[in-house]
Amino acid sequence: EGGGAEVQELRTAFNLMLTHIESSLAARTAANERLRRFVADASHELRTPLTSIRGYADLFRYAAANEPEEREAHLSKIREETARMSVLVDDLLLLARLDAHDAEPPVRPERIDLADPARAAADAFRAGRPGRPLEIAVPAGPVEIDADPVRLRQVLDNLLANAAVHTPPGTAVSLALTVEDGQAVVRVSDAGPGIAAEDQRRIFDRFFRVDNSRTRSAGGTGLGLSVVQSLVVEHGGTVEVASEPGRTTFTVRLPLPS
Ligand code: ADP
Repeated sequence: EGGGAEVQELRTAFNLMLTHIESSLAARTAANERLRRFVADASHELRTPLTSIRGYADLFRYAAANEPEEREAHLSKIREETARMSVLVDDLLLLARLDAHDAEPPVRPERIDLADPARAAADAFRAGRPGRPLEIAVPAGPVEIDADPVRLRQVLDNLLANAAVHTPPGTAVSLALTVEDGQAVVRVSDAGPGIAAEDQRRIFDRFFRVDNSRTRSAGGTGLGLSVVQSLVVEHGGTVEVASEPGRTTFTVRLPLPS
């Protein structure tokens, strides 16, 4: 009959519209859930140092005034926990700014030689961790890219710190810079115990730690690699991990200017 085709067409259009609404609702629900999780985790992580600070403040108060060493010990714990909280808050703010695609972006690229932040990160690592062998390899010529040197330092510092914190003292760490397939490539390797295959996907997740108690006591926030990933992606690059016992390598690839 006459209107059949039109009705069919309308029905198809209507169904298409429904599917579209359903999938955008689902995406929104997932985004809301991620945000809810993030806020819940962040609150929990902030509460941990706060609880310690309050505890040490009480201990300080009740320590006898004639026990200056004991009081000093409590005070230095308070300082330590406060410093940890600062790192956490800085990382949280940076992630929020990267998520928000702010009017004032936290990454301001300029033309730089990638070897400069690499050498600076290696020098800082050696100064802060005497006795920890670090090898650095950079090409003879400059590796020019458009990047924010401060943020790249942050990426390298995070990867190097992880290589030191999550491996036995004295084991070697290396930092290598190359150009491959039209990309600048940075590799940070360590000779530590490695990361289990099932954890390798999750280590970039916010607040994920492989061994909660151990890495928490090492002072980690569980945000280091999330920050690394967000910063690298903001630069148009990628970061990936390859790991087996005795060898873990984080590879950062950044586009060369066109
Ligand atoms: P954290 O502040 O705990 O170091 P990260 O986001 O930097 O948080 O790292 C997440 C987890 O990945 C760490 O808790 C650790 O378990 C694991 N990890 C990161 N780097 C290494 C590494 N080089 N060797 C072994 N494990 C690592």
